[in-house]
Amino acid sequence: PTQGKGYRGIVLAAQANYYWVQLDDLEAQGGPWDRRQLLCTRRTRLKKIGQQVMVGDQVWVEEPDWAGGRGAIAQVAPRQTVLDRPPVANADHILLVFALADPALDPYQLSRFLVKAESTGLRVSLCLNKRDLVTPATEHHWIERLQQWGYQPLCISVRARTPWPTLKAQLRHHITIISGPSGVGKSSLINCLIPEADLRTSQVSGKLGHGRHTTRHVELFTLPTGGLLADTPGFNHPDIECSPATLALCFPEIRRRLQAATCQFNDCLHRDEPGCAVRGDWERYGHYQRLLTEALAHQETISQQT
Ligand code: GDP
Ligand code: ZN
Repeated sequence: PTQGKGYRGIVLAAQANYYWVQLDDLEAQGGPWDRRQLLCTRRTRLKKIGQQVMVGDQVWVEEPDWAGGRGAIAQVAPRQTVLDRPPVANADHILLVFALADPALDPYQLSRFLVKAESTGLRVSLCLNKRDLVTPATEHHWIERLQQWGYQPLCISVRARTPWPTLKAQLRHHITIISGPSGVGKSSLINCLIPEADLRTSQVSGKLGHGRHTTRHVELFTLPTGGLLADTPGFNHPDIECSPATLALCFPEIRRRLQAATCQFNDCLHRDEPGCAVRGDWERYGHYQRLLTEALAHQETISQQT
């Protein structure tokens, strides 16, 4: 971001009119090395111009009170991305976590989560947890099958901590949003990646006096090996709220087909139109059709509202 005044940092958590800001590389910025997080308010000037502050925002903090751990946000850098649920700025990566077993991997539910993740436009990676519960043959089956879908899943075991270095490398240099159904091991994963001491200092919500899982609360955790991580509130059935055209582009298989050929009609929904380049014998075509029904229903709802 462009150079601003004061100390540069990132907003890790927000609640009411308070923001926890983690300052970057304080030694280089000439601040005390042991004060990395400040509880900040927003400068009146920002309020006047209607500049909101979100978790993930790059900000500049002025006149820090190092002893009291306080500061004021004076400037917000332009956002690279903005997510609505969870409300996070500048995220660039979604890590979708599913389990190979317990709960059993449901391909249609996985498709639904993948489409939801793809519809954000962020880079999506897929992690299959609990490999300790399945045979190598089962693991191999899923890897090959999901490669056909256009993904390169990483099979992991949070319990056995494998393959930890690969996973950490995927998270370094990114602001990652973790998503996935409940019971797959997301909380276990976060607890493993963030040592207890860091978890405690970044338990910002505790300091702000409310629980971690209050509604619409979101918090970024800093990983000791680099990168920032946000959890999403657990949900098992993400709604499909994109247009039919966007839906199609959320499938790597369809993107691939449309790169190689074009449909006869440029508003083709890839159902039963003549000259369709997408319709065909590929595994997830049925998932596409089911989700298309929802996307069309969503479009209908929107058009009735306007
Ligand atoms: P979340 O709902 O996605 O946050 O899932 P949790 O982290 O609460 O984990 C759900 C259950 O799966 C817990 O009982 C964990 O101990 C268990 N679990 C998590 N990771 C693994 C793993 O790698 N292997 C096995 N066997 N169990 C795991
Ligand atoms: Zn078509």
